[in-house]
Amino acid sequence: MDVLIVGAGPAGSFAGYLLAKQGHHVTIVEDHSQVGIPVQCTGIVTSAIHDLISVPSSVIKMHISRARIFSPNNEAVDVAMKPNIILCRAGFDQYLAQQAVQQGATLLLSHRFMGRDGQTVVVKDIVKNRLKHFNPDIVVGADGPSSPVAKAYDFYGQRSFFLGAQATVKMNEEDIIDFYPTPDGIFWCVPEGNKLYRVGVGVYHHPNKLLTQFIARRCAGKPIIDYQGGLIPVYDPKLPIERENVFLIGDAATQVKATTAGGIIQGMTAAQCLAEAIRTGRKYTLLAQKALGQELWLHLTLRRIMDRFSFQDYNQLISYSQQRRITALLGAHDRDHLASFFLKLLVYEPRYLRFLVRLLKPAAPSKNRLASLL
Ligand SMILES: Cc1cc2nc3c(=O)[nH]c(=O)nc-3n(C[C@H](O)[C@H](O)[C@H](O)COP(=O)(O)OP(=O)(O)OC[C@H]3O[C@@H](n4cnc5c(N)ncnc54)[C@H](O)[C@@H]3O)c2cc1C
Repeated sequence: MDVLIVGAGPAGSFAGYLLAKQGHHVTIVEDHSQVGIPVQCTGIVTSAIHDLISVPSSVIKMHISRARIFSPNNEAVDVAMKPNIILCRAGFDQYLAQQAVQQGATLLLSHRFMGRDGQTVVVKDIVKNRLKHFNPDIVVGADGPSSPVAKAYDFYGQRSFFLGAQATVKMNEEDIIDFYPTPDGIFWCVPEGNKLYRVGVGVYHHPNKLLTQFIARRCAGKPIIDYQGGLIPVYDPKLPIERENVFLIGDAATQVKATTAGGIIQGMTAAQCLAEAIRTGRKYTLLAQKALGQELWLHLTLRRIMDRFSFQDYNQLISYSQQRRITALLGAHDRDHLASFFLKLLVYEPRYLRFLVRLLKPAAPSKNRLASLL
């Protein structure tokens, strides 16, 4: 079959690799002149990445086995976890694209999906300023959060987004991943080696202002090397992700964890579901639902609960989680398999149940509440 994939991010390139390996005639079109650049990501993945692909050491910046989760009153849960990988995100994307090409996929850089003319897909060669026309059997929208493919085929839906903003900061600290869940969203500080740290926010509003405040609080006076930013789609379980011969994967399908903004593994898992659907004739939506639906729904529900938290709730959550048996449980499971330990968590500490009641409360209006922490 002729497959046209729009977007050479992790989801698109991995789908290209899997489908070319199955013997399909695959073309990947990518808007940018280089795969993976500009980088708009922190690049943390859990050990679950090894279930999808073997990651070459050349694209690994670090392995980290310790994380802290902070409460507004600056208490922390310290978790010894299975090693997480900090990726060189540009290198990782380029590696996946290379794998697709090695399997026989054609990668067209500086080629932008423009829309469709009936069944014909219209792509612009940006360098030659020329339109090209494709008539594939299958179109894959792996074109990120604002998916032009979803728009062109009328299944974009009503999406909402977190706004991501991040700075690379030079500091001399321990190699620990720090997370700061807050009513505004999630804040993080992640080492990438060579005394560089990715300090960022994924929030509903005012990303630049909140990042500036977070940097002032977390790493005042330290040199800032660069800034990045990007949209993070909020998972929508009701969003259609296929229509006839058109399929959405990754951020284009909102397949991102609403608690941590992680979407690399989820997009690649969706690519795997799509390849299996095409190979077996089964329905992609059902396979994706089975592989990802429950986890993404759980992350979304937790996010909705946390959106209703007061600062006191966050302080209590962290205080409950400081117990040794809870940190041991947290360390033994990874964030990509939440469902498997969620029930155990409630059995170990039934007081977590009180947070579920927050779902009955209307969500607090999003506003800049970090300021009150400073
Ligand atoms: C600040 C920030 C930090 C993050 N940190 C993490 C993290 O630590 N761990 C994690 O797992 N996830 C993280 N994410 C989320 C992660 O980056 C995404 O989930 C992941 O990149 C999704 O991959 P994808 O292939 O679906 O889409 P993308 O990586 O967005 O790739 C889409 C591709 O499509 C191309 N494209 C778009 N439109 C067109 C068009 N019209 N024609 C041709 N090509 C087009 C784009 O150029 C791009 O290359 C973070 C996101 C942000 C914003």
